[in-house]
Amino acid sequence: MNTATLGFRQPIAATIEAVARAGFGAIAPWRRELEGEPVESVARRIRDAGLAVSGYCRSTYIPAADRDAFAAGLADNRRAIDQAAALGAACFVMVVGGLPEGSRDLPDARAQLVEGTAALLDHARKAGMRLALEPLHPMYAADRSVLNTLAQALDLAAALEPAPADAPMLGVAVDVYHVWWDPALSAGIARAGRDRRILAYHVSDWRRETRDLLNDRGMMGDGVIDLRAIRAAVESAGYTGAVEVEIFSTLDWWRREPAETLAACAERLQTVC
Ligand code: ZN
Repeated sequence: MNTATLGFRQPIAATIEAVARAGFGAIAPWRRELEGEPVESVARRIRDAGLAVSGYCRSTYIPAADRDAFAAGLADNRRAIDQAAALGAACFVMVVGGLPEGSRDLPDARAQLVEGTAALLDHARKAGMRLALEPLHPMYAADRSVLNTLAQALDLAAALEPAPADAPMLGVAVDVYHVWWDPALSAGIARAGRDRRILAYHVSDWRRETRDLLNDRGMMGDGVIDLRAIRAAVESAGYTGAVEVEIFSTLDWWRREPAETLAACAERLQTVC
């Protein structure tokens, strides 16, 4: 369970308890939930609840308007990677950032992404924390992510960490909301599997009548994504990690009681995913 699915309306302790009570095996918390909380005590609380940590969300944006802001972003990300390690997360999820304010230079933003990811990979190795590059749907290229397809993410990973002997430290998060439309999806998943780079698998659904491009994700089964087919592809590519529910829904699920949303997620995971 990605905690965003519950809309960040209660303290992390209550969320951990609710997720465990609903029968889930793993949780993916967000940095904003740990503000003012010692990471060790949150880690202990999660362990005591019997939950694994399927991922830690998410990176500070990398492309920046100037070198000082770029460096500050990297420093922030290094601290977050250390937190992810303290939580025992399976990976640190990287939503890499869009164009800096005022910029029209997409190639420069992507060059900053390469430089920044290389620097963070060094830190990730020291911290023993895998980095999961999450390609976002191209509709977010301006404001959230200049990394937009699985192939682009895998090319970046291969460039920075070619053919690692051990399990790679740099991989990808496959989020159906972002990749379902991609004509090269099957090939990308197969390649990611061959390269042992699938670190996370996120599910929700794409509502045909989408009302908001960020916060109107559908519950699994309420949209057009062939969830069974994508999961089969991911698992036959060798992925054995969690199937993580991540639904941003200001109009629907965030208005419901957390217990109701959790029950719906649990049921849909068993029936349509
Ligand atoms: Zn995701």
